[in-house]
Amino acid sequence: MGWFTKTKETAAKPDSPKKEDIWIQCPSCKAHIYKEEWEKNLKVCDRCNFHERLTWKERVDVLLDAGSFVELSPKVTWNDPLKFSDAKGPYADKAAETCEKTGMKESVVTGAGKIKGIRVSMAIMDFRFLGGSLASGTGEKILQAAMYAVRHKLPYIIISASGGARMHEGIVSLMQMPKTCAALAQLREANLPYISIMTDPTTGGVSASFAMVGDIHIAEPRSLIGFAGRRVIEETIKQKLPDDFQTAEYLVDHGFVDMIVHRKDMKEMLFKILKYAGCR
Ligand SMILES: [Zn+2]
Repeated sequence: MGWFTKTKETAAKPDSPKKEDIWIQCPSCKAHIYKEEWEKNLKVCDRCNFHERLTWKERVDVLLDAGSFVELSPKVTWNDPLKFSDAKGPYADKAAETCEKTGMKESVVTGAGKIKGIRVSMAIMDFRFLGGSLASGTGEKILQAAMYAVRHKLPYIIISASGGARMHEGIVSLMQMPKTCAALAQLREANLPYISIMTDPTTGGVSASFAMVGDIHIAEPRSLIGFAGRRVIEETIKQKLPDDFQTAEYLVDHGFVDMIVHRKDMKEMLFKILKYAGCR
């Protein structure tokens, strides 16, 4: 046997940590980053400023005071009014499987919590749940959290992360666009601030409804934000679109987004805005 031939003993060392336990490869610039450093940096690449998508729980940890989060409408879940089925099988099976995998009941988790002592009502979308799609349960949870804000005179914050409406629920999912906007109009009537935070991606029916009717629009750096996909638009208007089209940075330049805030500064910025709006 040659010197460099792997024997069974050298090939498998059960005690040595796996490469992926120590290093993370940035999905954008491909730089290798220590996992510990990546976590400490809130899953942001310090080389290229790529912001990794976060789960709803991670958002709570980053933004809200420790232990202050109380979930609202925890029982509201998906619905299957069309008894929908596609080539991959019934929607009901897929949704049930997603619930089990993510531990979530819908693509959004809502709750009340505190940002440096200021009470807020909050809705946090999670892309892991069927692409963060907007469905009847999502709309209902967003509405109930808005009504909670009105009842308790609290500011409302929605963190969007969505591919758009959930086609499996057909017209019912589209109806969530006016429904959520009607709920937000009640906040406006009550003179309560609504802050929309757009993360990667905020597209389709979500960008065409509640994400774009905030009093203040904040985006995470480099997020994809838009309605229809780039290819669809290019084919429709027969024009080449700019490279940075539908990025947070492009939308700041064109007035759809007020500011881009790095994840590590988000809590402080929300606190400043809420204080300025007279919340306490
Ligand atoms: Zn990077």
